[in-house]
Amino acid sequence: MNIRTRFAPSPTGYLHIGAVRTAIFAWLLARQNNGTFILRIEDTDKNREVSDSEKHIIESLQWLGLNWDEGPDIGGQHAPYRQSERLEIYHKYAQQLVDKGLAYADTTTTEQLTKWREQAKSEKRPFHFNDHRPANPPDWELGMPLRLKIDSTQSPAWNDIVRGAQKSSHENLDDFILLKADGFPTYNFAHIIDDHEMGITHIIRGEEFVSSVPKYLKLYEALEFTPPVMAHMPNILAPTGNKKLSKRDGAPDLLQYRDQGYQPDAILNFLAKLGWNDGTEQEVYTRNELLEKFSLERVQKSPARFDEKQLLWISGHHIRETSLDDLYVQTESFWPAEAKNADSSFKKQVLALVQERLKCFSELAELTAFFFSEPKLSTEWLELDKRLKKLEPKEVCEWLAAAVENLSENSFDVEDIEAALRTTAENNNYHTGKFFMAVRVAVAGTSFSPPLFETMNLLGKETCLKRLEAGKDALEA
Ligand code: GLU
Repeated sequence: MNIRTRFAPSPTGYLHIGAVRTAIFAWLLARQNNGTFILRIEDTDKNREVSDSEKHIIESLQWLGLNWDEGPDIGGQHAPYRQSERLEIYHKYAQQLVDKGLAYADTTTTEQLTKWREQAKSEKRPFHFNDHRPANPPDWELGMPLRLKIDSTQSPAWNDIVRGAQKSSHENLDDFILLKADGFPTYNFAHIIDDHEMGITHIIRGEEFVSSVPKYLKLYEALEFTPPVMAHMPNILAPTGNKKLSKRDGAPDLLQYRDQGYQPDAILNFLAKLGWNDGTEQEVYTRNELLEKFSLERVQKSPARFDEKQLLWISGHHIRETSLDDLYVQTESFWPAEAKNADSSFKKQVLALVQERLKCFSELAELTAFFFSEPKLSTEWLELDKRLKKLEPKEVCEWLAAAVENLSENSFDVEDIEAALRTTAENNNYHTGKFFMAVRVAVAGTSFSPPLFETMNLLGKETCLKRLEAGKDALEA
């Protein structure tokens, strides 16, 4: 079977994280089977359209590395790939349904519809349009809303790859609008025509569409189409509580992740893991491992929780696995301003030192600023670390003086720095951990720095001694 999947966003703003995840799954399935991945823009609701969103969607998918084989920007054998440019195709099928007596013109006014709805509500029964189906509808012509005539006595059953065998009740079956008065199709109509015309074999989309599947099956039947395989993805929950992740919960635009300095592969990994596992405890996957191991059958039914801490953790792993040269290129725009004119081989050495603890590139500036400019320590700098807080400034001044003294003749190799500082602590009975921390804060201006001796080695002897003196002076001031 030649697998053909599609991602079919509506250009109504930036992509929701849940939509990005379905795009990833559809892409993985196509790529791992040497199939075809299609991008289709579902722009039939002109009122909800947000300008430039198609461009934004394309940029987001490209950044993530989800390449498509057919789409609005590159064409393909089933072009066009924007629904607004396919109206004639929908009209053709609409006419066929009309000719077969399976669809009818709906001239109901909004007021009438509201009245029926309110009446049903007051009688505490569900509203069904087909209870009001007109006995003698006018002949349909373009410009009149068109409804599918559904036989709601037979409720279809189907299989969903993720959710298993599904049954429906007639409650979910009702005559529904295929074409609106403006000649545009509804999503319900257009996607079925397009999936068929484009030879889509697998529909992968969010679970909010499950309840509509019964009526879609009625439409497939009316059109004499074989429905594609369907897989409905579980919801993604907000970080806390029992509600769906919304754009308001900080589910950011994908391009914000790019701007915050996440690697596309880390985001791919993080999102693929939301609701999918390969049966093991593995959390970190390369792109190739995902391509090898992903399967729709192992997408879970229950909702997955969005957790940005997990993203940071996964991202840190990906960063550690990146070669220094690649990382250097990727982090180019994330250095502190002071590093602007710094030597690139020095910057690479700094990067090698922080690689271990970097979780996303936006941390780089803060983590490395002290390599490029003098840290400024206040008189209260012992407050910067809890191990230093309770110490007497006078005592710490002595420690720093001893450090300066023992380092002044040092070769400043990493091992020699370590040996000198250890000896200083031992000979003077200093608490080694606190002593090292005091040296660290004096030299780096922060208690969070890369490994101390490597850091000092890279900063060089002159700078370190100057900073140790400055740390002492600040305490004495
Ligand atoms: N245009 C629909 C949406 O953005 C896509 C649903 C589907 O994948 O069929 O929600």
